[in-house]
This record gives sequence, structure tokens and C-alpha cells, in this order.
Amino acid sequence: MRSKGIPEEDLFSFFETKKLQDKNHLYILSSMCTLPHPVAVKAHALFMETNLGDPGLFPGTASLERMLISRIGTLFHNPDACGYATTGGTESNIQALRIARATAGIPSPNVVIPESAHFSFKKACDMIGVEMRTVPLTRDYRVDCDRYMDSIDSNTCCMVGIAGSTEYGMVDPIRDLAAIAHREGIFFHVDAAFGGMVLPFLKDAPEFDFSLPGVMSIAVDPHKMGMSTIPAGCLLLRNENDLCSLSVDTPYLTVKQEFTLSGTRPGGSVAGALAVLEYLGYEGMEAIVQGCMKNTRRLTHGMESYGIRPVVIPDVNVATFETPETPVPSRWQVSYTRNNHLRIVCMPHVHAGVIEAFLDDIGEQYVEKTY
Ligand code: PLP
Repeated sequence: MRSKGIPEEDLFSFFETKKLQDKNHLYILSSMCTLPHPVAVKAHALFMETNLGDPGLFPGTASLERMLISRIGTLFHNPDACGYATTGGTESNIQALRIARATAGIPSPNVVIPESAHFSFKKACDMIGVEMRTVPLTRDYRVDCDRYMDSIDSNTCCMVGIAGSTEYGMVDPIRDLAAIAHREGIFFHVDAAFGGMVLPFLKDAPEFDFSLPGVMSIAVDPHKMGMSTIPAGCLLLRNENDLCSLSVDTPYLTVKQEFTLSGTRPGGSVAGALAVLEYLGYEGMEAIVQGCMKNTRRLTHGMESYGIRPVVIPDVNVATFETPETPVPSRWQVSYTRNNHLRIVCMPHVHAGVIEAFLDDIGEQYVEKTY
């Protein structure tokens, strides 16, 4: 490092040049994160120095974490759900699998996941040393329940279902999977990292939560559609005993045991996540989520008018299209699925004006191509 520090002004002008190298959110159509809501930023700043890894030092912040879990548990039809704030979907999924393995007590366990599962499950299985079995999807990009049944055996410690898949925005037949898990006595984890902050605000949304008896744990990320600051994920569990199966002794802290994966944990983003839910309430969240779905539909119709066909009609605000013949203009940051389908996530920052500007750009290319 430098032997002597530099003036603050120089430091921040350097940082500003670096920030300008980042992509502008106005053109980011590929991310499942978004600009944090202003109340999340304010709350985060207020709790910036707090560490939930030693909750006895920050009892006020710790109570906000309990409130966050309780609010989301209620939204997921189980006000008594327990859980904690993670760094995001990856940590929640790792922890869910650790719990499933610990509680099953199977010597050579396997985990069954849909082919559409996020790559965090590969990390999780690798880390905890369990076999990962993937189940193919049906034509509508949901997991095939019959093939799922074929993958389960007496060594299966965990079944996974996705509520809002990363690439295609689809919800697996969670009710059917939950029924299988319940009948077979297998721990069932739902990865709703994305969909968990969308589906509760949609009419006639597919079921995915604790209202289904087989669902034992749910991952949900406030730093995605919850518009919190990063990092903010949550892992919720039906049974407290399951969470406690991960407890380790923590001799020098204000608490005697912890079940979290990280030690030091940010209170700022937890306050940020709660701030958004409290400030907007159900109706405010509903308005934002429905706006994102409306934009998804508008994008789909606009693309169709240029002959660019959607791959599926998504359950949440992730739109995918057959790859256009001409490339998307480079100012737009889009992404492509493993099947090379164009993928656009209609997050809150991708508002109606952005969609129209994007469609105009695509339209110009289309006109150029036609004439
Ligand atoms: N699960 C799903 C369904 C996701 O879409 C993602 C990320 O996009 C994750 C898990 C991982 O979340 P994170 O990047 O916050 O760890």
C-alpha cells in the first residue's frame, strides 16, 4: 500500500472515474438486481456499522432481522417461519442443502434438482460432498415431475424446486413436488430467490410457499425484486429444529451458538430490505411488481411485432426470445441463456420508457434489414 495516504478529494475523483466505467443501469437488461429503493439506501446508511454476527451487541438491528423474517414468513403463509438474513440466494441454497443433509443422516446422500436450477446448487453439492442429480424439463421449461420421481431413491436427502427460474422465469410444479416430498418424507427446498418477491403480488400465481405442507425451506432475495441494498437474501424454514441442526458453538461472542454460514453479517442491508417492505407495504410492492409484469408483456408484444418470437410465456418478469437475426445494439446489456435465447429481465429500473427505447432500437434494425 501507499506509504502516505492521498487527499480525500483525489481519492474520490479517482473513484468517480472508476464508477463511470461501470454500466449505466438504464441499459442493464440482464440483471436480477436493480437500483436500490431510496429508503433502503437511507436505512442501510443508518445501520452501516452494525454486525449481526454478534447480535447481542446490536439488539435493535437483530430485532429488525427478526421482523424481516416474520414479514416474509407471513407473506409466505407461515408467520411462525424462522430463518435469517443471508448474503443472497447462493448462501441460502447452500444452507438449505446443509440442513437437508444434516437432518436426513444418510451416509451417501443425493440431492435432486431441476435442470433449470441456479449454478449455486452445483457449488453447494460440491462443498458439502453430496451427489447432484438433475432432472430434465418439459417443453414449457418446468421440471418434469415424472422424471423427477425416477431420480429419487432412499438416499435422496433433498428435493429442490424453483419458483422463478433464473433463465426463463418459470415456476416448477411446486404443489406436485411438495406432495411427493411429503409422501416420501424428503426435505423439500424451494428456491424462490427471484420469484419470492414477485409471486405473492400476482393474481392467480402458482403456489410455491409454506401453504403447501411439504415445503420445508424457501430462499428469497430482497436484493433482487425486493429492491434492497446488496447483500440481502433470506432463508426461511418451517421448523426451527432444522435451522438449529447447523448450530456451532461460538465461545467469545454475545451468543453461545450460531447457525449462519457467514460470521460477520451486515445489518445495513437487512434494515434496507425491511425498510422497503415497511415503506411500500403490500400495495406498493404489488404496484411495482405488476408494473414489471406489464413491461414484460409489452416487451414481448413489441418483439413479436418484429417477428422475434418469445420462447415461453414466463411466470415472472424474465422474458426470453428466439435469437434475433441481427445482434442487439451494443449499448444494451442483454444476456443469453444456455440455449442461446435472448434473455431480458424486466426489473424495476427497466421501466416503460426503457422498454420503448429498446424496442425502437430493435425496430430500426428490423427496418434496415427489411429495406
Ligand atoms: N437462485 C436463483 C433462482 C437465482 O436467480 C439466483 C441468482 O440470480 C440465485 C439463486 C443466486 O443468488 P445470489 O447471486 O444472490 O447468490
